[in-house]
Amino acid sequence: MTYNDWFEAHAAKHRVIMDKLSHLRDDEVIKYFRFENMVIHESDFCPLYAENKKCHDVAKLNCYLCACPHFRFNDEGIDKVKDKTRYSLCSIDSKDGARYENDNAIHQNCAGCTVPHDEKFIAKVFDSDWSSIMKKSPPKR
Ligand code: SF4
Repeated sequence: MTYNDWFEAHAAKHRVIMDKLSHLRDDEVIKYFRFENMVIHESDFCPLYAENKKCHDVAKLNCYLCACPHFRFNDEGIDKVKDKTRYSLCSIDSKDGARYENDNAIHQNCAGCTVPHDEKFIAKVFDSDWSSIMKKSPPKR
């Protein structure tokens, strides 16, 4: 699955849920996307829900964003770093971020960073249209 395939599939899933929640205030929507509630009410939103498992080992995990508005990707490659193609990066170079590297590719590794799962951050960037929050992530068209 390419970054873009995942991105578009996730936007569609998110939109289906948001259409259902149009009667809620923004703070109520954010609360609805708490891991514990999503596992029960939106079981197909994340493959980890089937195991009641969190993507990050944190007490309070919110699934509203899932991806991160600071994440940049391009399936054709963003740029070259020495002789490797970089396909994704963190635009704020988070100290909790890292890289997956092999002989010819570099990908952003967000496994250690919980920025997009924090409710204060979500409230700061909140928009009921997920794609609008993530608009800087995919390559410009
Ligand atoms: S490292 Fe953190 S801030 Fe950077 S893109 Fe990944 S989740 Fe977002």
